[in-house]
Amino acid sequence: MIITDTINQTRETIAQPRREGKTIGIVPTMGALHEGHFSLIRRCRAECDFVVVSIFVNPTQFAPDEDLDKYPGNFEADCRACRDLGVDLIFAPPTAEMYQRENLTWINVEKITDHLCGTSRPDHFRGVCTIVAKLFNIIQPDIAWFGQKDAQQLAVIRRMVADLNMPVDVRSCPTVRETDGLALSSRNDYLNPEQHRQGLCLNQALCRGRELVADGTTDTNIIIEAMRLIIEKQPDAGIDYISIVDNDLLQPIAAIDRPALVALAVRIGPARLIDNIIVEPPAKTV
Ligand code: AMP
Repeated sequence: MIITDTINQTRETIAQPRREGKTIGIVPTMGALHEGHFSLIRRCRAECDFVVVSIFVNPTQFAPDEDLDKYPGNFEADCRACRDLGVDLIFAPPTAEMYQRENLTWINVEKITDHLCGTSRPDHFRGVCTIVAKLFNIIQPDIAWFGQKDAQQLAVIRRMVADLNMPVDVRSCPTVRETDGLALSSRNDYLNPEQHRQGLCLNQALCRGRELVADGTTDTNIIIEAMRLIIEKQPDAGIDYISIVDNDLLQPIAAIDRPALVALAVRIGPARLIDNIIVEPPAKTV
C-alpha cells in the first residue's frame, strides 16, 4: 500500500495502473474510519482493480462554529485498517496541498440542497461538491463509492456528476449500524454511554416511521409527529429537522405517494447525528 500526501505524487502513482488498463475506484473519507467506511472499501476492492481511499478533513464543508478543530482522527489506525482491506493507495493531503490559494471556484448544486441539512448547514454541500470534484480531477476514478448514511450528500454528488458530465460511476452502500441500531459515524466518538443510549432514538423514530407506512399511513405530517414524540422523550435530544422528501430532488412531500426519504438530524449533547431510511408507497390493491 502506498501513502501519498501531494497531488503530483498521487497522479504519478495512479498513472501506472491506468496505463495497464486497470479500473480505478475511490472511497472519499474524512478518516476516523469505522465499519461504515470499511463496507465501502470492501465493495470498491471487490469491484475495482486499483483502490484509492482519500483521507481529508475538508475545512470548506464546516461552518466556523462547527467541529472542524475537534474532528476525530487516528491516521495510524486508519492506515492499518486500509492495509488489511487491500487498499492500494491512501491519499492524505494536508489542507495547504488541497487549497493552495484562496479558493474562488465552487460547485453549487441547487434545489437538492434547499432542505434537510442544507437548511442548517448552508455552505456545507458547496464545500462537499467542490472537494469531491477536486478529488475526482486528481484521481480520475472510474467508480466512486458513497454511503446512503449521508443520503443528501449522495443525491447531491450524483446530480453534480450528471449535470457536469463527470466520467465517474457513483455507487452507494447501505448504512452500517451498531447492533443496537445507532448508525455508525465518526462523530459517535463524541458521545458518552448515556448520550449513545439517547442517540438510539434516531433509529427508533425511523423504525416507527417505517412501521406507520407499512400499516398504510401516507400523511407525512402524521408520520413526522409520531417520530417527533419519540425523539422528544430523550432529555438531551434537540431536533434540527425531521423531514420526508421525495427521493430525487429531496423536496418535502405531503403524502408517501412515491419512493420517499425519511431523514432526521438530532443534536445529542456535543454531537449532531443524522440518519435516514427510504420508504416505498403502499402497494396499490386492484
Ligand atoms: P465521512 O468520513 O464521514 O465523510 O464518510 C465517508 C463516506 O463514508 C461517506 O460516503 C459516508 O456516507 C460513508 N459512511 C459514513 N458512515 C457510514 C455508515 N454508517 N454506513 C455506510 N456508509 C457510511
